[in-house]
Amino acid sequence: MKVLVTGGAGYIGSVCTRLLVDAGYEVVVIDNLAHGHRSAVTPSARLVIADLGDAAALDRVIMQEKPDAVMHFAGRIEVEESMRQPDLYFYTNVACGINLLNSCLRYRVNRFIFSSTAAVYGVPETVPLTEEMPRNPANPYGASKMIFEQLLEAYSRAGNLRYCTLRYFNVAGAYAGLGEDHRPETHLIPRILRSVLNPGETFRIYGEDYPTPDGTCIRDYIHVYDLARAHLLALQALGERNLVYNLGSERGYSVREVFATAEKVTGREIKYEIAPRRPGDVPVLVASARKIRTELGWQPQLTLEDMLRDAWEWHQKHPRGYPD
Ligand code: UDP
Repeated sequence: MKVLVTGGAGYIGSVCTRLLVDAGYEVVVIDNLAHGHRSAVTPSARLVIADLGDAAALDRVIMQEKPDAVMHFAGRIEVEESMRQPDLYFYTNVACGINLLNSCLRYRVNRFIFSSTAAVYGVPETVPLTEEMPRNPANPYGASKMIFEQLLEAYSRAGNLRYCTLRYFNVAGAYAGLGEDHRPETHLIPRILRSVLNPGETFRIYGEDYPTPDGTCIRDYIHVYDLARAHLLALQALGERNLVYNLGSERGYSVREVFATAEKVTGREIKYEIAPRRPGDVPVLVASARKIRTELGWQPQLTLEDMLRDAWEWHQKHPRGYPD
């Protein structure tokens, strides 16, 4: 089976590509390398450098490659940036996504796995979050992902497309030499670890006045390996029915708890400052992953400490990130 992976040079896309190749799938990666890294693409996958904004190029790739399925990772992912520049989010995550859906429609690619996010829920009334809870995004990033979910629903109703939407909670860790290298880096775990390696970078806690036990935001962290495994299960399960699953470990950790785990794993006392809240952040996000556990038999195997250990090893080996 051949799988087209958009954004396969990025953090999660590269790990999924690796798992797909290891499982015997033929993989074609499409990435514009704006945020991805050439050396993150497993050599046995084919890399096509193209932009999803270029509908003609996308059509050519899909027509020539005739993939059996698409895994769509390419997109913008920063809440704060989306508050400042919503246009970027609706262009990349929605308009470019429509190009991809149209190419799939034209060339009859009927299986689609989509990287969505817990941000589609907005500020939840209760946690853990289940898939049936209303989508009510609190920022343009979440809104752009929700709109693409709705587009998938509409394209599916109109034709043969079958999709699996996977709503990621907070992904961390590294796998098989593939780690997190966003530029700029905004995510909690790499930020803490980079502040250890680069004494010039002081780690900041964004807000300690949230309505949580220690005042810092609570998130549900999931290891990138566990997350990637779920994509392979979803691909195998995609039949007549469309699927929507949360992907989290069902445990909430505060920023301070993650920080304390980082100190334990690195064996260092890490400096930090308290900074104002970051616009767009919601106080608590914790998944119920019961649906994917019961329907696909998926279970997270790795803990927060594993995520920090693997990320720490990767950052020590790549203090400046990927070479390209
Ligand atoms: N965070 C922080 N300092 C940082 C980066 C993140 O305090 O340098 C906090 C952020 O406010 C949020 C949590 O860590 O509450 C997780 O943020 P991240 O950007 O990793 O993921 P998000 O939940 O926004 O997708």
